[in-house]
Amino acid sequence: MSRMPKITISVPHEGGAGLTGTWRTFRPIVDRETCNHCGICAMFCPDAVIDPDTLEIDLVYCKGCGICSNECPKKCIKMVREEH
Ligand code: SF4
Ligand code: SF4
Repeated sequence: MSRMPKITISVPHEGGAGLTGTWRTFRPIVDRETCNHCGICAMFCPDAVIDPDTLEIDLVYCKGCGICSNECPKKCIKMVREEH
């Protein structure tokens, strides 16, 4: 399947309160066997923490919102509860 065209978007960076994500209660886990590399998860992530090329998720900044999981057409992103 062809990749989505690249668009210019902002990227997350450390805010005044420090790194984000320490309060996250769920983290996304991708089933790489099922993923078809469509890139839709990267397009929908509100914090742009999914690399559109590698599809790696930067868990330092991921807030665990689950939007990527909800939008994935293959349903291969599972939200797993964090063990703090
Ligand atoms: S859970 Fe939310 S913040 Fe984390 S990668 Fe998915 S869409 Fe982005
Ligand atoms: S939306 Fe789902 S199938 Fe598409 S790249 Fe992301 S994880 Fe893979």
